[in-house]
Amino acid sequence: MDLRKASREELAKLEAELLQEYNACKEKGLKLDMSRGKPGADQLDLSEAMLRVLAHNEDLIADGLDTRNYGVLDGIPACRALFAELLGVPAKNIIAGGNASLTMMYDNIMRLWVFGAPGCTPWSKQEKVKFLCPVPGYDRHFAICEQLGIEMINVPMLEDGPDMNMVKQYVEGDATVKGIWCVPQYSNPEGKTYSDDVVRAFANLTPAAPDFRIMWDNAYCVHHLYEKQDHVLNLFTELEKTDKLDMLFMFASTSKISYPGAGVAVMVCSDANIAWTKKIMGVQAIGPDKINQLRHVRFFGNAEGVAMHMQRHAAILAPKFDVVLETLERRIGGTGAGTWHKPAGGYFVSFDAMPGCASKIYELCKEAGLVITGAGATFPYGKDANDSNLRIAPSFPTTEELKVAINLFCTCALLAACRKCMAEIA
Ligand code: PMP
Repeated sequence: MDLRKASREELAKLEAELLQEYNACKEKGLKLDMSRGKPGADQLDLSEAMLRVLAHNEDLIADGLDTRNYGVLDGIPACRALFAELLGVPAKNIIAGGNASLTMMYDNIMRLWVFGAPGCTPWSKQEKVKFLCPVPGYDRHFAICEQLGIEMINVPMLEDGPDMNMVKQYVEGDATVKGIWCVPQYSNPEGKTYSDDVVRAFANLTPAAPDFRIMWDNAYCVHHLYEKQDHVLNLFTELEKTDKLDMLFMFASTSKISYPGAGVAVMVCSDANIAWTKKIMGVQAIGPDKINQLRHVRFFGNAEGVAMHMQRHAAILAPKFDVVLETLERRIGGTGAGTWHKPAGGYFVSFDAMPGCASKIYELCKEAGLVITGAGATFPYGKDANDSNLRIAPSFPTTEELKVAINLFCTCALLAACRKCMAEIA
């Protein structure tokens, strides 16, 4: 039944039914969490053998390099070579760091903030600094800007990436626009992948600001769920063609390949930016955890090894996504209570509730013992003008828990929509 066309009586009857369902759920005293994109314990178990690849002193020597000791600021060559193959970029343009790409992104923004891009005034000393934020997006990207007082401008995500007409207008027309956050493959939260045209449009930007930077967070570069895979065009190569490589900072990590708490992260940039970064970083650190980098190299071997490992993740994850998508379709499809995008990879399903309902759905879920990402979190400053977008993360609960959780979510979404429609009729 399309709730927007239902009569007052029909809505009242449905509300009563939904409430009964909701209260029955509430009485169970559930404790469910679909809030963050954390791998489940069974996914983490997949990497157990990595803990055994380095057992003896001699195992810790990689191509003559003793990984136990200080040094090698940009990471061990074998690890950089592995990421070079994965990302299709030269190893010399990679810095392999610690366990979190978020830290590398934060540090990169800090370097631009405190020291400035080569030949440019530090962002902190410029009167105004603005960032473009495709929405909905990743809350932790937005939090970095918010902490520094960087003004965020929403750019709508279209089916194949950000609205590039708007991006071009801002980037080419306003020198205070210094950057943009992008998750180009299986975006967080929508699971969308930028089209070739969008990537080429990025490569052809002529920014008004000489220190404009693209934060290209390729967090889900190998995180396919099904046989049909998305592959984003390589922005590094495209920017080499247009001779604008200095605009790019690309990031990736093995957080959702091996361990989120103990993976390896990388940053990729031009020769000039590598030199600039290493000069500043050299004061901050002597070198990363090279033993962990070597462990990853020995465990995965090469890009094919990573791809095989990701199939094992997909075998666990895809059925969970199927539960979410089938339940949404069965319960919400045709009701007008929400829409969603079917992702081919990544970690999330993005749900656009009937406008004005997201906060209510969040509250209803919480009251019944289900934690989801807060309404508004997918927007800068936590402000979703339509109060509509909610992020569903299916990975952490077990399949059985997930079935209960997504059904409860649907009950809450329908209840909120039903009440909104009733209020509109009254
Ligand atoms: N970027 C995106 C888009 C993410 O979704 C996440 C994890 N949720 C991260 C970065 C965090 O990556 P890392 O663990 O490497 O810091």
